[in-house]
Amino acid sequence: MSVTVRVPAKVNVQLGVGGLRADGFHDLANVFFAVALGDEVTATAGEPGTGVILGCTGPDAGAVPLDDSNLAARAARLLAARHGLAEPDVRLDIAKAIPVAGGMAGGSADGAAALVACDALWGLGTPTGVLLELAAELGSDVPFALVGGVALGRGRGEILEPLPVAGTHHWVFAVADGGLSTPAVFRECDRLREEAGTGSSDTEVPTPDADPALLAALADGDTVALAAALANDLQPAALSLRPALADTLRAGTEAGALGALVSGSGPTCAFLAKDAAAAEAVAAALRASGSCRTAHATHGPVPGAAVVVEA
Ligand code: ATP
Repeated sequence: MSVTVRVPAKVNVQLGVGGLRADGFHDLANVFFAVALGDEVTATAGEPGTGVILGCTGPDAGAVPLDDSNLAARAARLLAARHGLAEPDVRLDIAKAIPVAGGMAGGSADGAAALVACDALWGLGTPTGVLLELAAELGSDVPFALVGGVALGRGRGEILEPLPVAGTHHWVFAVADGGLSTPAVFRECDRLREEAGTGSSDTEVPTPDADPALLAALADGDTVALAAALANDLQPAALSLRPALADTLRAGTEAGALGALVSGSGPTCAFLAKDAAAAEAVAAALRASGSCRTAHATHGPVPGAAVVVEA
């Protein structure tokens, strides 16, 4: 028996970063937006004694760790432990479309997908609240991959409030060669703030909050207003570590994108387009520009991790 779950990637339409806290984290005002570009995770019952076995396909499969650090494997074990079950015997096959270490929470998405897939495979019927708790334990971005849509994340990003939205927006994602480490980008953000003389601790940097203009644009389904409100406090740090991303942002904007920003900690760049045809044109121009490895047109918001096949 096997269960396949489809799970979205995220783009942060706003990523407000507060100062460095004593526990090493930053307070965030994080507006997550789920896009149709996503992974699929298939959980298949294994023979007794085989443990957790991982497989991965897709252009970036070689960059995905197939050991105990994989968030899908950690999710399967965490769910089993929560139900008092022994080491599970399960095969997890990841069909990877989300860029790896690209600032689109691909690993977190696979963790969320594995929770949902194993829950269905093992017939556990875990309440949503418990799945959300387990997701938060796995990582700050995992709860959003369960919920999908558009949500405001506070704290480290794990306290989620679904936001009212209307309509569909068309996006283009330009995938860079190689990833950026999320902790390294946060460290660079702190370093740039120190250098600018503004200070980097949570007593010096104001606590970030969601931008009312952005929330209104989302509620109204107004792509032009959303494009104008896109904001990412990590963007200067990502550009400092990877200056060539400025060329990618420029190429997409010159090709007619309404707005552009680095996705999360980067290096993937995200572009908002007027409609589906404009998104295809921006993606084609980006691929031709040589400023990125590839580019994908997609749309959102879409729902969170959900079972698509049970066989
Ligand atoms: P985020 O935006 O949440 O910080 P990201 O999108 O930048 O993350 P991921 O694709 O989630 O980055 O990968 C970050 C690291 O996580 C990878 O370099 C890899 O070592 C590890 N990882 C663990 N599990 C997975 C997985 N299932 N898929 C991809 N990477 C994984």
